[in-house]
Amino acid sequence: MNPSLLQTPIDYLKGIGPNRAEILRKEIGVHTYGDLLNFFPNRYLDKTRFYKIAQLEKNTSEVQIVGKIVHLRTVEQKKGKRLVADFVDDTGKMELVWFRGQKWIRENLKLNTPYVIFGKTSWFNGLFSMPHPEMELVEEYKKNLRTAMQPVYPSTERLGKAGVTNRVISRCVQQLFLESGNKFVDPLPENLLEELHLLPKAEALFNAHFPRSQELLAKAQFRLKFEELFYIQLQLLIKNMIRKQKIRGFPFEEVGSHFTEFYENHLPFELTNAQKRVIKEIRQDLGSGAQMNRLLQGDVGSGKTIVALMSILLALDNGFQACLMAPTEILSIQHFNGILDLVTDLGIKVRLLTGSTKTSERREIHEALENGELHLLIGTHALLEEKVKFHNLGLAIIDEQHRFGVAQRARLWKKNHLPPHVLVMTATPIPRTLAMSLYGDLDISVIDELPPGRKEIKTVHRYDSNRLKVFAFIRDEIRKGRQIYIVYPLIQESETMDYKDLMDGYESIAREFSMPEFQISILHGQMKPADKDYEMDRFVKGETQIMVATTVIEVGVNVPNASVMIIESAERFGLSQLHQLRGRVGRGAEQSFCILMTGHKLSNDSKTRLETMVRTADGFEIAEVDLKLRGPGDLMGTQQSGVLNLKIADIVKDNDILKSARHYALQLLKEDPKLELEKNKVVKYTYSQLVKEKNIWNYIS
Ligand code: ADP
Ligand code: MG
Repeated sequence: MNPSLLQTPIDYLKGIGPNRAEILRKEIGVHTYGDLLNFFPNRYLDKTRFYKIAQLEKNTSEVQIVGKIVHLRTVEQKKGKRLVADFVDDTGKMELVWFRGQKWIRENLKLNTPYVIFGKTSWFNGLFSMPHPEMELVEEYKKNLRTAMQPVYPSTERLGKAGVTNRVISRCVQQLFLESGNKFVDPLPENLLEELHLLPKAEALFNAHFPRSQELLAKAQFRLKFEELFYIQLQLLIKNMIRKQKIRGFPFEEVGSHFTEFYENHLPFELTNAQKRVIKEIRQDLGSGAQMNRLLQGDVGSGKTIVALMSILLALDNGFQACLMAPTEILSIQHFNGILDLVTDLGIKVRLLTGSTKTSERREIHEALENGELHLLIGTHALLEEKVKFHNLGLAIIDEQHRFGVAQRARLWKKNHLPPHVLVMTATPIPRTLAMSLYGDLDISVIDELPPGRKEIKTVHRYDSNRLKVFAFIRDEIRKGRQIYIVYPLIQESETMDYKDLMDGYESIAREFSMPEFQISILHGQMKPADKDYEMDRFVKGETQIMVATTVIEVGVNVPNASVMIIESAERFGLSQLHQLRGRVGRGAEQSFCILMTGHKLSNDSKTRLETMVRTADGFEIAEVDLKLRGPGDLMGTQQSGVLNLKIADIVKDNDILKSARHYALQLLKEDPKLELEKNKVVKYTYSQLVKEKNIWNYIS
């Protein structure tokens, strides 16, 4: 099909008027012929196989059977009647059932005449029955031409109401194949098709809509998924290549005195091998002369901060300034205090800048930053403001990336005449394959090892009805000298309700754990920053034993003596959030506990989330489950990506195809980085079309 035909507005297709076209655009995003062609069925009715009644099993879905009706009767039921037919073949008997249209059926069905029936079976009163079967006389069936497997397209209520039924869509697609003569340019190069034994494009498209057999369907889907993922990977790889070539960065050639001095004399612990490896990777990047754009993934507590600090020291050693940005005030204060402790002896000037920094202090910071007196600035979004100008920013570190948008990442780039090196740190592990697609423009480092001596956190699920036992447990732990977090959910839509939950909870805890033996802190989003600091500070110092909080506590907070995390209404949290919260404990030498409190009524997904938390502490495993439960579309940061608007591939299920697609895309680019070879002409063309559509670039640059 020539490209212009693919771009023809859908209104022009036979069978689709302006009204239907409007619905198609709105409901399923089909604007053009090409869109419709890439609108794939989500399942197929398999009519290749005939079942015998004796072969039916309780979990078979739609089946096709040949047999005869031997008896028809009407059965009275509580509301109205149903029509029941005894249907037999040479192996057994089942029932066909109608609740609607009984009169017509009674008058038209032929007894003792062979029919082909098709439909879903269910097991009822010791017999299989099929409600409202599709039926056709065998005689008729033989006359009609048909494809064996019929497509079932995704639908919406509005589509149905507007009369755009499955049959209509299926006819339209057929019409498209007719008009196009089923001629399509194949976007994959010949040699790849051969090497991987892929179906040609035209055949794959046709079989994805109207499969001639199960086998061809599988081949068609494989081919189309491969193509889709191949081009995504190709775009990401090219983008990455271009970035490396074009974007010059400040070369940090020296490993200077700060770094060495710190490494030799101030390192508070032995680095893990994973930390060493990652620091090496970062050092290589920083020395290369190209701008670093690196994502550092490491589970909660894996020790990313020290890696950040050592990268910062490299920047300072080379005469550059650095900044460290965190998503919340609490977290930036914590970074500030922690880093200040570590570097005071090195003569490094560090300041904190947040939304609540006073104007006079702000002015001071701005000035020291511009004239270069200040070496390291730590803070929140406040760092991004226009007014914040660096003398010579060389490295920007962003902690907990998922809280920041891509646009914000971009704003940091503009803080120097060459873009600073960027290190993005995230504690929400993303399965590698997804990371590859989502952050294909970033290089990835992983800290996959926890510092030694960490005890596994014991995680249990308890029902609200066991609250008294949980209270007794808390009391014991506090008497042993430990501190406790109790966290309540926070849902943005209903802050007042959450506030009430929190306050009710606080009151009952305060009643149970009364002063003077017990001191309680409280922390929530509606408090003034100064009050938050005050409460947090009391808890950090051990003056309070219980911290009642909303999820503001989630990110990064580090109080090693806190060893119990109680999560209230745990079913209302997402998996990665639960994992983050749990990561607040298990930071000291003592055995830590995480208690997930819920009511008795739980959805299946909630159960899976709770079971997963109890079973494993591995952030990557948890991320995989999370991804399966929620789908990539809901994963933090993916909404804006556009990368995951996949037409046929599934980034989770088609993991293996993704890897293979990436492998071949990489191979092709190695051989032909500029897509100049004759055999890759079609790749170059397809790629340029995709870039024109910009479907992938929105989020990257
Ligand atoms: P995260 O990766 O979650 O940001 P942090 O950097 O806050 O983790 O580190 C968690 C805790 O582990 C901190 O108290 C830190 O001092 C400690 N830590 C980090 N690396 C090591 C190490 N190699 N050995 C011992 N403790 C470490
Ligand atoms: Mg951290």
